[in-house]
Amino acid sequence: MTFHPPKGTDDIGAPESHVWRAVLQDWESWAGRYGYPLVLTPLFEATELFERGVGGDTEVVSKQMYTFTDKGGRSVTLRPEGTAGVVRAYLDSGAKGAWKGAYSGPMFRYERPQAGRRRQFWQVGVEYLDVEGPAADAEVIELGYRYLTAVAVPGLEVVVNSLGDEVCRPAYVALLRRYLEEKRPELCDDSLSLIDLNPLRVLDCKVCAPVLTDAPAMSEHLCDPCAGHYLAVKESLRSVDIAFREDARLVRGLDYYTRTAFEYVATGLAAAQNAVGGGGRYDGLAEALGGRRMPGVGFALGIDRIVLSSSLEPISDVDVYVVSEGTTIDALRTASELRREGLRADFDTEGRSVSAQFRTLSRVGARGVVVTRGGDEVEVRIADERETLPLSKASEWLKGRL
Ligand code: AMP
Repeated sequence: MTFHPPKGTDDIGAPESHVWRAVLQDWESWAGRYGYPLVLTPLFEATELFERGVGGDTEVVSKQMYTFTDKGGRSVTLRPEGTAGVVRAYLDSGAKGAWKGAYSGPMFRYERPQAGRRRQFWQVGVEYLDVEGPAADAEVIELGYRYLTAVAVPGLEVVVNSLGDEVCRPAYVALLRRYLEEKRPELCDDSLSLIDLNPLRVLDCKVCAPVLTDAPAMSEHLCDPCAGHYLAVKESLRSVDIAFREDARLVRGLDYYTRTAFEYVATGLAAAQNAVGGGGRYDGLAEALGGRRMPGVGFALGIDRIVLSSSLEPISDVDVYVVSEGTTIDALRTASELRREGLRADFDTEGRSVSAQFRTLSRVGARGVVVTRGGDEVEVRIADERETLPLSKASEWLKGRL
């Protein structure tokens, strides 16, 4: 009997995992530069957290959650996204005032799997909580942009919109609903079912897009404070040289967004998977969870899609490969010495021929080579340079060149 990974999940090993590692290491570095420390929350939460925090009528909650009853009779759900858990954790901690957190980890959605659309997928993201100013939105958007640029996502485009708030959105939604009622005969079944439930999401429908070109735009019906906020976000983005495109149809799938909504699109990828990430402001989320009013802004980026599109150099697991022209014990001893000096070293445990060892070294992508013949001296090589040295000096020589 053979087992395979469950549908929509993947086993990821080297060399593909080298790209994953490069992309995830860059994430830590960029989140750190913007002052976002790592936050770890559970992979599963009470189902109600997502029902209330993401919205019961969203696609994610109504169709895609991995929900089960645990042995204690509680309904729990594998997290389909990161924001609800992080906001819950912050509210739970009793903290107050501006707070930043960055996460990185797997999310679970029961999707129809295809390339870039998995049932278990990896998101990185940030949440900037208890902050209201438009500079916070701009900082968050900039961080995502700089990171995606650093990991070489091709043809990156930032798309922004404003979704208004509880003051101006209801009147706009009523206007949109009237408009959609008139378009009824031309809309797809999914859109028809959304007219009453959540008409904003009809704007997101790819099938209906051609008949909705003259739909009223939220950005033209904002109340003064929302309009001012949106203007300031755009000015702030320009001040840090982030080019963006405005799209009145950008609404995002999750219910909790207010004011700023944004998406990062990799125009170099096929349309089905070119949304590499997105986010927005969610000033109403904490209240929806039963907490106090607490504004916040954040984004999530899909690592699976970033890896698919990235042309980043993979990071090898191995700095130095030890080739033994003597015994396997010589290689073990040499590798051990290099590892204790902080180098990532590997060698062949199986006593294979020297040429087989060289083949392995090129497969693992080690830049440095140490050839041992059993004596105290070894030969070190990197690119065209080579030298014979005592083993005790080898790591210093290699570190200076790696
Ligand atoms: P969302 O949480 O739906 O706003 O998604 C944010 C990003 O996560 C998307 O732009 C994708 O890059 C990624 N993503 C969402 N769902 C999936 C999935 N099922 N498989 C792979 N990546 C996904």
